Amino acid sequence: MDERAKSLLLQNRAALAKDIRSSYIMDHMISDGVISPQEEETVKNKATQLDRANQLIKLILGKDNHAFVSFYNALLHEGYKDLAALLKEVSSIDIFGTGKVSANGITSYVKTTLCEGGVPQRPVVFVSRKNLVKDIQDRFYQLMMESGWVVVYGMAGCGKSVLAAEALRDHSILKECFPGGVHWLSVGKQDKAGLLMKLQNLCTRLDQDCKYSQRPPLNVEEARDRLRHLIMHSYPRCLLILDDVWDSWVLKAFDIQCRVLVTSRDRSVIDTVSGMKLLVHVDSELEHQKGLEILSLYVDQKVEELPKEAHHIIQESKGSPLVVSLIGSLLREFPSRWAFYLKQLKNKQFKRIRKSSSYDYEALDEAMSMSVDRLKDNVKEYYNDFSVIEKDVKVPTQVLCILWDMESEDVEDMLQEFVNKSLLYCDRNGKSFLYYLHDLQLDFLTERNRNQLPALHAKLVSQYLKRYSHVLPTLDQEDCTYWYHYLAYHMAQANMQQELCALLFSFDWIKSKTRLFGPAHLIHEFVHYQNILDKQDMKAREDFQEFLSVNGHLLGQNSHINLVQLGLSEPNESAVYKHAVRHAREKLPQG
Ligand code: ADP
Repeated sequence: MDERAKSLLLQNRAALAKDIRSSYIMDHMISDGVISPQEEETVKNKATQLDRANQLIKLILGKDNHAFVSFYNALLHEGYKDLAALLKEVSSIDIFGTGKVSANGITSYVKTTLCEGGVPQRPVVFVSRKNLVKDIQDRFYQLMMESGWVVVYGMAGCGKSVLAAEALRDHSILKECFPGGVHWLSVGKQDKAGLLMKLQNLCTRLDQDCKYSQRPPLNVEEARDRLRHLIMHSYPRCLLILDDVWDSWVLKAFDIQCRVLVTSRDRSVIDTVSGMKLLVHVDSELEHQKGLEILSLYVDQKVEELPKEAHHIIQESKGSPLVVSLIGSLLREFPSRWAFYLKQLKNKQFKRIRKSSSYDYEALDEAMSMSVDRLKDNVKEYYNDFSVIEKDVKVPTQVLCILWDMESEDVEDMLQEFVNKSLLYCDRNGKSFLYYLHDLQLDFLTERNRNQLPALHAKLVSQYLKRYSHVLPTLDQEDCTYWYHYLAYHMAQANMQQELCALLFSFDWIKSKTRLFGPAHLIHEFVHYQNILDKQDMKAREDFQEFLSVNGHLLGQNSHINLVQLGLSEPNESAVYKHAVRHAREKLPQG
């Protein structure tokens, strides 16, 4: 649904719910075909008129513009002219003609669908690669009648993700091929626990009716079944986009006869999955002309007017759009420095040999080094803080507010400078902003700040501990998921062994984390950090790990289970029992 329509519905929800009689309204909406008799039943089953009206509005919020228009018309027909007037503002915008094209060639339907699906926006400076986009879109049309896989493959940084997102920025594709919407997942290099986390997040995102709100899937197999069920019943003919997949085993979790677009460095990742497979190869080198276009957009000059160095810069960048963008944004600031930046690019001070690929990324390292060195010292420090973020993780503003003790507006304003310089990327979804770096940029940053990494991790942890000294993060906070997933990792990287033990042996933490995400990730952390935990207290680690393995499924499944009670029923010599006693004593004075 159009963002503005949704916003108006939400703003006027109370007034609408107070007055409308849902049964009359629903008659119109059923005959318009925008709600089903089953959905009508869910509304009718509510006890009071107010509840029924609220349920109906909730239903409409999850639907498209047609449902909104139908609701608006129904209000008019049923004599609720005042209420319809509250929503009238939207009738003058592009709500009835969802195919109307906005200034940048994108309809509001496309905008809303991509935003809801978490598809990244175009980079600040963008050139279209029409042939490749068309290649991908042709494959999409092949998915119209049949489920299957489209794989876009090529070297890191060659523009696969940007192309995948661009191919979706098309009204007809979304309407005809993927009426169930599109859902983007940044996968990256994962182990099983990491994949489970990603799957849990995806399931939560898709489960808008909160059918499964009681508990997250406990393992990858269960997540796969849940995903299949959600897609079959709530999102038929949707597209999942799995960005930057490294390993073929990851795809097994998505081998559920749905439509999937995969981007990967390695075409063989789909060898083991079943169904139709369609491949698109992206050359590691951006066409020379496209490189020139990127530079021309940055410096605001026609391609033919660019100096000869521009051609050499593209050659030195090996046609990498990432490198060309970095140099472009430097040139925007200093338009006379063509020769200087070309000389720097040829400098080759970085001799990084990447194990993961035969391709060399020296040009990228040079360009990154130039861009980071140009930052003012105080701002550079903020940028260096990104060295501690794990690959393929998008960080919500709120985490950075805590890290830097800043208001979100100030964080967002400051980070815009990095975004403009192509040093950082930002996904905006409504009010929330998520920041991330390209893998190759993160490689550069961690390499450059290698010696400071433990201190940088420690800074993030101590800021967390300051902010959450008395309470734990809860799901309504946008930074909540981040901490439950990565706090232990940061502690381990910071060599904060005592803090890590205190965290993983804490009943409050175990209770919250298992309730929100199930026990699997926590058990994984006990295994992963075994060496560190054993140095502090081997018996406690063994006892807790055993305790979680035996009881974890209960904790994840049942929010009524009392963790401390469970701990107290462990044998007296168990570390879990001792911690439970201590915990119970500490809590006693608070009741
Ligand atoms: P990959 O997925 O292949 O690793 P991305 O699609 O993430 O690569 O692209 C890396 C970066 O290159 C982008 O963040 C952007 O800065 C730049 N880039 C890629 N494609 C384009 C494009 N068509 N126009 C402008 N810049 C691009």
